Amino acid sequence: MGFQNPIRQSPPPRPSMNSSPDSRESVLQVIDPDTVAGRGALAADPPLEPTAEFLAELARDSQSLESESPQQILRYAVDRFAPRFTMATAFGPEGMTLIHLLAEIAPETPIFNLDTGYQFDETLELRERVKQRYGIEVELKRPDTTVEHYEAINGGPVYKSDPNRCCFDRKLRVLQDAAKGMYAWASAIRRDQSEDRKRAAIVGWDQKFQLVKISPLANWTKNDVWKLITTQKIPYNPLHDKGFPSVGCWPCTRAIGLGEDERAGRWSGFEKKECGLHTS
Ligand code: SF4
Repeated sequence: MGFQNPIRQSPPPRPSMNSSPDSRESVLQVIDPDTVAGRGALAADPPLEPTAEFLAELARDSQSLESESPQQILRYAVDRFAPRFTMATAFGPEGMTLIHLLAEIAPETPIFNLDTGYQFDETLELRERVKQRYGIEVELKRPDTTVEHYEAINGGPVYKSDPNRCCFDRKLRVLQDAAKGMYAWASAIRRDQSEDRKRAAIVGWDQKFQLVKISPLANWTKNDVWKLITTQKIPYNPLHDKGFPSVGCWPCTRAIGLGEDERAGRWSGFEKKECGLHTS
């Protein structure tokens, strides 16, 4: 494939968004009162804008990468978008898989973790193990307020009453800031994880964060991931051996029982199934 790095191209023409004015409006209201221009790839120099031509090109790239390996998809991402290519990780099995592959392909890729202040100690210790094994320092990106201050100004833990708002304040806003000036981000989602994720493209435009979103593991199964972790001795969160297949913040994660869905332990007791990073 003849991929071109957009940094070496002249800035593309003004945006021609692939959504109705109404849907753009609703994303703006959900995410930020700021203008779209201050976000993600639109805030880069030069900006990378989602023109109709660019979106069509991404769709073609995505289609051509459908049968490629995660390594080849990551190579595409690096060739095409580095140094404005980044990755966010919660140190789950899929994220650890991508870190392992990136360590071989492009260890200089900036990787960050959304450190809400509510993460398990085991998760934060895994960051240290990544540093020891790969020499990669995953940057912790934090919200403006500490947990203590956030709870004090909100009259207690917001995750108990309004987890959507808590995720918005402590994850989505932080990612939005971290993504400013980047062109693309890697996501470790798999299509077989949930109904929402079934529709994930290998390469597509992330309207919420105004970035190209690349999902190298979209076609992988849980077994594929764990096979690589086992054979390559990739470090993983010890909580996975204690009945936690999916690990998020400690207040919103529980161990699951036999036969339960792998994400059943997240936000148990609420309708919520996603933090909002991977929903449109
Ligand atoms: S997962 Fe829970 S504690 Fe973490 S940000 Fe979301 S609601 Fe808050």
